[in-house]
Amino acid sequence: MLSALAEAPDFSSAASFLLAQVLDLADAERGHMLRLDAAQESLVSVASVGYETPPRALIPIGDLSNPLVLSALALVPVTGGGRSSSRAFVSIARWTALPMPQARLRGTLPVMPLPHAQELLGEGEVRFLTAVERRLASAPGGVIVVEGAVPERVIGSVTTLVMLAGPIIARLASLQESRDSIDRLTQQRDRLTLMVDSLPDPVVITNATNDIIAQNSRAERLLNGKEGDSSGRRRAIELNNLLFTSFLAKAVMMGSPTSGPRELNLVDPDEGNDLLFEVLAHPLSERVGPDDAVLSVLRDVTDLRRAANELERQVQRVRLAEMKASSERDRLNLILENVADPILVTDERANIILMNDQAEQLFQASEIQQRSRRQIQAVRGNDTKFTSFISEFALLDTRARRERMALVHPANGNQLPIEVVSGKIMNERGEPIAIVSVLHDLTKEVEIERLYETLKTLNSELEERIRAATADLAEQNARLQWQSQEVERANRLKSEFLASMSHELRTPINALIGYSALLIDGVLGEINERQRDALRRGRAAAEHLLALINDILDLAKIEAGKMPLHLEEVELRDVVAEVSQQIEPMVRKKALEFVVDISTECPPLHTDRTKVRQVLLNLLSNAVKFTNRGRVAVVARCDDARDGVRIDVVDTGIGIREKDLQAIWEDFRQVDQSRTREFGGTGLGLSITRKLLDRLGGTVSVRSQYGEGSVFSVLLPQRTPHGASEEIAAARSG
Ligand code: ADP
Repeated sequence: MLSALAEAPDFSSAASFLLAQVLDLADAERGHMLRLDAAQESLVSVASVGYETPPRALIPIGDLSNPLVLSALALVPVTGGGRSSSRAFVSIARWTALPMPQARLRGTLPVMPLPHAQELLGEGEVRFLTAVERRLASAPGGVIVVEGAVPERVIGSVTTLVMLAGPIIARLASLQESRDSIDRLTQQRDRLTLMVDSLPDPVVITNATNDIIAQNSRAERLLNGKEGDSSGRRRAIELNNLLFTSFLAKAVMMGSPTSGPRELNLVDPDEGNDLLFEVLAHPLSERVGPDDAVLSVLRDVTDLRRAANELERQVQRVRLAEMKASSERDRLNLILENVADPILVTDERANIILMNDQAEQLFQASEIQQRSRRQIQAVRGNDTKFTSFISEFALLDTRARRERMALVHPANGNQLPIEVVSGKIMNERGEPIAIVSVLHDLTKEVEIERLYETLKTLNSELEERIRAATADLAEQNARLQWQSQEVERANRLKSEFLASMSHELRTPINALIGYSALLIDGVLGEINERQRDALRRGRAAAEHLLALINDILDLAKIEAGKMPLHLEEVELRDVVAEVSQQIEPMVRKKALEFVVDISTECPPLHTDRTKVRQVLLNLLSNAVKFTNRGRVAVVARCDDARDGVRIDVVDTGIGIREKDLQAIWEDFRQVDQSRTREFGGTGLGLSITRKLLDRLGGTVSVRSQYGEGSVFSVLLPQRTPHGASEEIAAARSG
């Protein structure tokens, strides 16, 4: 039976077989086997026979009140029934427990001495059966519980059978356990291998001489060549081994494998590209591997490093951009601070983000406690106006807006007309992110506009006045024109009258002069001295009248345009000689020095001889008339600069006052009445002289020092321009 037991294929069939044999011997129906489980320190059901539901007992070995425990520990059969059944954890009325020893080995429990067991069991329904001889080198191994009482006659042999079978069962059990554990371990190893192989990182275990003891499949791909590998792959694998070994050697040199270099460059044998690994090395404890074995996990950080490099580059770029932005911002601030106009930057909800000092003065209420109520009000008012403008603008579709606004200067409370120019700053999606506003001070413009308006009013008033004045003038002009026409008509009539009356006037006067001379000379009979004196006075008066009439007639002729020019070659010298002869008696009478100085280079003049003679006669007779001592001179000069001649009539006479220098040229003008009486004359000489020179295209002017003398200067052109005076006359009358 025992040899059959030993040949059982496994533990459970052996247990069932033994149990069946025991029941058969004991003539029992049901029974079950409990084994001592060292790990659980309990009696655990392992096999049963005859039960519908096999009992599942687990009895702690420390429970020394349990008779099954005592039976197992003391290696004594025990029988019980009734109430004790519950203590025995079997649902049977009567039972017998047969101890099942095992070989005493390391870790088995010692056998309990019988007296001690007896003491623990006490007196009762449960009792030890006749003790079978306990074998040496036996240890408690379990118990077989048989339902019912085993008959006295077989108890000995049944117990012996169980005692003998116990060690075999125990060995089979331990064999089974080993097998199970091998299965479990194999399963575990497979699982672990799968796990390690499925790791994306190469994992390698090396020994003290840096030989690879174990590696996962990823490591194999990098470090292990196979039959049929291409030469490229083989070379790459050789290189990798070299690199890895030298890495490990270096690590050893550095002391501990964990403190050495951490980065390892390998080559991908399939792709050929470089791979970068971070090596995490762990020394393995003795329990896991051989001495000095090191587990190296190679973390592929190629992508990580690439990403890190990329990140570093990005960071660098961001830093650069930041630096640029900050310098941009500094520059912007500098610009903002140096612009004379207030500048504000607001977000799209009209909150001020940025402003320069000028804007702060208008909108900033930071030192508000130091400000007066008026200032606070001004700042708030400005802010309200500006904010509502910006809010409106933010809603509009336009990019820029310009508007006039009346702000108040908080510092002095003055009105501040401004123009706001705002522009939106868009992001790349075309949404406004900020609004920049520049405020132009319009005080000057407004003042200029006001002045311009005033000026416009004044201007229109002035225009109105000018219009009125012009109308007035036009009226006056018309009147004057009419008057001038009348005057001219009267003048012409007068001149015509005089011209035609010359004969009528001169004939009677000549008769008077002639008859007076005859009477004075005594041709018509003797007269006394008183009569002669009266006649002389009469004759002088008549002569004066004649001279006056002659002058008036000359003037009238000139004015009436009845004095035609007779142009010819005239030697100035000749004309001067003629005139000198004429005035010679007067010069002599006054005992004056008379000088004629005519430049020899003067060419003959092309002019009207009679008129030149009359001009010189008028000037010379005046010079002699108004000079009582000294000299009278005629000086004529022709030089190249001037086309013509200059004739100066110089005297050392009474001279002319400064204030009279204009008046002497007027008709009938004699500047000093008392003097006139002394010197005689008509007051027409100079007027006629000027008019004659006009006709000849010349001019006359005077310089004089009162009381010292005068110089009358005549300028005559070398050729009298044809029609000169007509043009002049025409220009005058026009
Ligand atoms: P009159 O016939 O009175 O000389 P004129 O027209 O010739 O008239 O001169 C006007 C006035 O100019 C003279 O009355 C005189 O007062 C002043 N006058 C002219 N020539 C001279 C002169 N050479 N010296 C001083 N006074 C002169």
